[in-house]
Parts: sequence; C-alpha cells; structure tokens
Amino acid sequence: MLRVESMGVTYPGNVLALKPTTVHFHKGEFTVLLGLSGAGKSTLLRSLNHLVKPTTGKVVSGEFGELTNRRILRQHRSRTAMVFQHHQLIERYTALQNVLTGRLAYHGTWRSLLPLPRQDLELALQCLDRVGLADKALSRVDQLSGGQQQRVGIARALVQQPSMILADEPVASLDPATSEKVLGLLRDICQEDGITAVISLHQLEYAQRFADRIIGLSNAHIVFDDAPENLKSKH
Ligand code: ADP
Ligand code: ADP
Repeated sequence: MLRVESMGVTYPGNVLALKPTTVHFHKGEFTVLLGLSGAGKSTLLRSLNHLVKPTTGKVVSGEFGELTNRRILRQHRSRTAMVFQHHQLIERYTALQNVLTGRLAYHGTWRSLLPLPRQDLELALQCLDRVGLADKALSRVDQLSGGQQQRVGIARALVQQPSMILADEPVASLDPATSEKVLGLLRDICQEDGITAVISLHQLEYAQRFADRIIGLSNAHIVFDDAPENLKSKH
C-alpha cells in the first residue's frame, strides 16, 4: 500500500527528527504511531505525503509509485486524506461547506467546484451522515462541540474517498470519553471501507484498544513495531 524506504528527516538547524527508517504500511491496516512529544510521530506521518520533505530515502505509493514529481504527488495526495489535531476547519463555514472543501483535492479550486455537482453534494451529506452529523449539515462549525468538529474533520477526509487516512493526534484536544468515541468511529469507518489508516497518538491505552498494529517511536527512531498484544511483554 505504501512503502517508506530508508527515509530520514533532518530539519533546518540540524535537528534530526527521524533517523533513516524503513517501514511498510499494509492495505486496510489501522496503525498507531505511539510516542512521547518530540519522538518524531508528526514528522513520520507528514512525510508520508511529503507535507514534510524527507531529507534522505523515499516514499513509494502502491497505487502511483515513488513520490518523485508533482503529478504523482498530486495523485497520491488526492487519495490520502488528512485529519489534524486542531481539525483546521473554516470556522465561519457550515459543516457541509467544510466537508465540501475535501472535494477540492479533485476539483483543484472552488471555481471549478461551482456550480456544485449534485454527486459532490450528495456524497458530502452521506459523509456527514456516517459521522452522525446529518442534522448539523447547515450549522456553522464554530457552534459545534469539539467532538462534533473533529467528526466534521473526519467527514471532510471521507469525502475525498481516500484509500489512506493520515491523522495527526486527532484526539489530543478532546476529553477521554469523546476521544474514545471519535477513535472508535474512525476505526469502524476505516474497517468498513478498507481504508489504510496511520494515526499518531501519545496514549498507550488508546493505541492498545484501537490499533491493529503499533509503531512505537522514541528519539527519532522506531523502537517497536508489532501487534498491540505484544507490546506489554517486550517493553
Ligand atoms: P512528535 O509528533 O512525536 O511530537 P515531531 O515529529 O513533531 O514529534 O518532532 C520531532 C522533533 O523534530 C522534535 O525535536 C521537534 O522539536 C523537531 N521539529 C519538528 N518540526 C520541526 C521543524 N519544522 N523545524 C525544526 N524542528 C522541528
Ligand atoms: P503538534 O504536536 O500539534 O504537532 P507542535 O507544537 O509539536 O504541535 O508543532 C507545531 C508546529 O511547529 C509544527 O508545524 C511543527 O513542525 C513545528 N515545530 C515543532 N517543533 C519545532 C521546532 N523545534 N522548531 C521549529 N518548528 C517546530
């Protein structure tokens, strides 16, 4: 599905954020990147679609090949949806309008998304329905709770009809009960649709509860890569 080969990231100022790493992500797998703040989770996650540019090594998409030029990168990104900690919604837009921004991965600009194709509208409403927010489609997102906002963020990812979802600390701003609901929802949807997911988290208990596979990061390298049930026995 996605291969990372000898990929390393050094930021300006000689900050080594990820030592050369080889790791393969498998179709439909729900992988959690687990580690303390500063371990390199965001860096690994963001390099998977070159939001962070690897300093060495390469990323190879199973669908489109090695990310070497803008055309391949655009194709790869159109199928790789992101979910962020602070969800990065547009506050003065409605839930529906925010979800529709996910279609820009295909249409490029708002201008080419207008007049709005009926399929896009129906798909956006369907995605809101899947995250349990059909009745909030026309609410401004700044009127919604934190958990609802993150569900809009998930719907915006789904409207891209992604083969892969990259979620960077998607529940770090939410309370424990809401975090569990949001992670459960994300995992169930990925399972139903066969979406490959890579999620960064810093809570061991969520990783153990939801992950198919845990990749543990510490000090810029992978220290663990196995099924959750094997984590306790080794570390
Ligand atoms: P995590 O997601 O596990 O908190 P990060 O990948 O964000 O870890 O950060 C790994 C290391 O790289 C940290 O030491 C962090 O301070 C550093 N870092 C992250 N982003 C940048 C950047 N843009 N410029 C310089 N250093 C950075
Ligand atoms: P988060 O944990 O939500 O990623 P951070 O505070 O770690 O938030 O990082 C916020 C932003 O600052 C990110 O874009 C990251 O790349 C950047 N950043 C993190 N550490 C550094 C650093 N040491 N120098 C420069 N930029 C950094």
